[in-house]
Amino acid sequence: MLPKEFLEEMKDILKEDYDLYARSTDDEPFRGISVNRLKTDEKIIGALPFEVKKTPFYKDGYYIPCDEKGIGNTPFHSGGAFYVQEPSAMSAVTLLDVCQNDKILDLCAAPGGKSAQIASCLNNTGLIWSNEVVRNRAQILLSNFERMGISKGIVSSCYPEVLCSKLEGYFDKVLVDAPCSGEGMFRKNPEAVLEWSREHTVSCAERQLSILRSAAKAVKSGGILVYSTCTFSYCENEGVIKKFLEENPDFEQCEIDGHFGRKTELPCAVRITPIEGGEGHFAAKLRRKGENVTDSCFQTAKDKKQDTLLKTALKELENIFYEVPKGEYNIINDKLYIMPENLPDMRGLGVIRAGIFVGEFKKNRFEPSHALFMSAKPENIRRILKADDDKAKKFLSGMELDSGCQNGYTAVVYGNIIIGFGKTADSRLKNKYPKGLRIK
Ligand code: SAM
Repeated sequence: MLPKEFLEEMKDILKEDYDLYARSTDDEPFRGISVNRLKTDEKIIGALPFEVKKTPFYKDGYYIPCDEKGIGNTPFHSGGAFYVQEPSAMSAVTLLDVCQNDKILDLCAAPGGKSAQIASCLNNTGLIWSNEVVRNRAQILLSNFERMGISKGIVSSCYPEVLCSKLEGYFDKVLVDAPCSGEGMFRKNPEAVLEWSREHTVSCAERQLSILRSAAKAVKSGGILVYSTCTFSYCENEGVIKKFLEENPDFEQCEIDGHFGRKTELPCAVRITPIEGGEGHFAAKLRRKGENVTDSCFQTAKDKKQDTLLKTALKELENIFYEVPKGEYNIINDKLYIMPENLPDMRGLGVIRAGIFVGEFKKNRFEPSHALFMSAKPENIRRILKADDDKAKKFLSGMELDSGCQNGYTAVVYGNIIIGFGKTADSRLKNKYPKGLRIK
């Protein structure tokens, strides 16, 4: 049973369409996936073991059947070919209009659905900086970063105010997918209904405005700020944007083309309800006035390269790859990373990952990481074990496999997507799929 006060507000928002909404409240929720172009392309659609249909909200967004079970346990999911995501939630990244080489901040990023979309659109150019203030949620974000094979990215866990003050004017585009009262989650998660109250929407709005104020600092002159929520409430959506614009005359509304969702009183904003084919989202697009200038006041914070260790690692990498991944190699606490270029000073910003975690030095050995293989293309790997459904399932559950490969680190490939790696010794593949990810 939905709260009366909530339904009254929905009447105000939807007007003559309210009855359509009221009739939809007990229907099954929409579900979707976004395809990850770092790993695959639209051809994957034909290979999926379930029916899909394009959504209007995002170029690589698809509806999936609402009753489809076990998607998270399929090899394509484990390999990062797609991200399971509520269809209308994909709309915010469409408004962000990602261009190659953009530097983008996703300020409230966990579990990582929108960061995955942004990284897919960036296609290994520019930078995706994903921040999540709640530490254990930042770990989930990191795990999704690795699954999706994101190499040009940063994961941090920092207060928005601290992060955005230090990175003032650094980003071309900033996304604030704010914590909210979750009215768009009511069909999927009935517990959200129990947590709802008018007072809660008001306190959410205060927090949202405060996050938006911080976010604004990180946007460069001429840059874009997108704000989104998964709630319908006026005070958390139009209300927050109007207050923000009053306080920040250096920001203006960007008119959006309206090819999906329903219009709002703000030309820069769209609301999506079940009537328009999504569970519920609001997204608004703002622009910081002025020329789009590039700030050059940031210094790269480099750690000293430890030459002998690096030589050991590069020898191992030459044995794995036809062409060793290029980039700025850095050793931090016995771990090797390839960092995105021209990073700002990241000290004090709660960074838990910068670029690709390549592997670890253990005594005099170098051991490559799962993340390294997940970010690689199969055609660049010397030893490949092709897995069918049965072998992929065994591998993802942690079992050893027969391997026809020569001894050495070996990528396991399912349908042209790397799902992990192992080490071949005497025709057996010792499984290196991370224990925490194994499917029981
Ligand atoms: N963008 C994510 C995605 O697409 O997967 C979903 C983000 S969720 C709607 C909002 C996030 O904001 C949550 O992960 C939550 O932990 C975080 N959050 C909560 N309080 C916050 C605060 N005061 N400042 C910044 N983020 C906050």
